[in-house]
Amino acid sequence: MAGLTSAIHLASEGYNLILLERYPYPHHKVCGEYVSNEILPYLKSLGVTLPDTVAIDTLQLSTKRGKLLQTKLPLGGFGISRYTFDNALYKKALSLGVSVKFETVKNVTFLKDTFSVYTENENTYSAKVTIGAYGKRSGLDKQLNRNFINKNSPWIGVKAHYVFSEFPENLVALHNFEGGYGGLSKTESGAVNFCYLASYKSFQTVKNIEKFNLKVVARNKFLNQFLRNAQPLFDEPMSIAQVSFESKQAIEGHILMCGDTAGLIHPLCGNGMAMAIHSAKLASERVHTFFRNSDYNRGKMESDYRTEWKNTFSQRIQTGRVLQSILLSTRASNLLMGTITKSPGLIRSLIKRTHGKPISL
Ligand SMILES: Cc1cc2nc3c(=O)[nH]c(=O)nc-3n(C[C@H](O)[C@H](O)[C@H](O)COP(=O)(O)OP(=O)(O)OC[C@H]3O[C@@H](n4cnc5c(N)ncnc54)[C@H](O)[C@@H]3O)c2cc1C
Repeated sequence: MAGLTSAIHLASEGYNLILLERYPYPHHKVCGEYVSNEILPYLKSLGVTLPDTVAIDTLQLSTKRGKLLQTKLPLGGFGISRYTFDNALYKKALSLGVSVKFETVKNVTFLKDTFSVYTENENTYSAKVTIGAYGKRSGLDKQLNRNFINKNSPWIGVKAHYVFSEFPENLVALHNFEGGYGGLSKTESGAVNFCYLASYKSFQTVKNIEKFNLKVVARNKFLNQFLRNAQPLFDEPMSIAQVSFESKQAIEGHILMCGDTAGLIHPLCGNGMAMAIHSAKLASERVHTFFRNSDYNRGKMESDYRTEWKNTFSQRIQTGRVLQSILLSTRASNLLMGTITKSPGLIRSLIKRTHGKPISL
């Protein structure tokens, strides 16, 4: 998402680009598929048109024990599958002349002011600037010797689409269970996306998604009702392992890191896609200035991007960290729900702290 967006942005400015992507489009992806409205002005400015999406303005939150809270979302968002969203960005990039190669990058080096990008097909591409937008985790992180890659990443993500017609279109629901939480929201096809994040510790107790859904996830009465009545549309759920929320660097080996490659916000915030798209804007603007102004050197481009990234996203990531640890503790989440019920303004202010304002152009 960050890679496609920066490709669209820079191609619109007239640059020659190569986008290297591992998997052909369209494809499904483990993601909650709730997108914050903050990105809409920017997508519009890039000329990206999305197929009909589902407008979402209400959040429901439940604890493991079934305490339920509902609130209006300050800015709101929309539901769209990654299958459709990523494909729309891909089509836009192609229409602007971006050269898209379906290859896996295995290493990137920087020598004599030039990047060499090596792929598993034994191709090498040279570039003056490289943006790293390869998501949460990749073999490339090992090659670049990034700090976070050697730390423990004890989280898994699971996602599938279901038919569950009674689920309201305008709702995103976040339900807690032992060691994790799951989000429910509708996508453009009318299917309900059920996506959850769970700790290995909790998952290890059964080691199988079907059993985990029955024995752990369904202990939340709302998820129980969903799993009992919804009809799965995928042959089996998709899953990803080793999801890491460790801090990362926005610049590594002179590469401008974008989206999850620069830092992953906890999924309960529903802001990862907006951050990926926004960070693509920040990086593209720095790159454009770098090429346009001869007195704006690489060092300045890198330090400006690092600072802008930090100023724009650090608070969201930090608040997300705190909220996730509260949500996963039974005592703390009950306490928080009690406080929020008495002062509903608090939840909206917490949501605002994990989101941005509509992206200014
Ligand atoms: C369980 C879960 C639920 C979530 N729910 C939401 C939500 O509801 N709303 C929200 O806004 N965010 C959500 N997120 C976060 C969101 O999915 C990410 O923040 C977002 O996808 C980041 O986009 P990106 O472009 O950085 O990375 P990605 O979308 O992951 O794109 C990275 C791309 O790089 C490719 N790639 C990787 N390695 C290589 C390589 N070596 N060579 C070539 N290509 C490579 C991949 O194939 C992929 O297409 C969720 C995350 C999780 C884990």
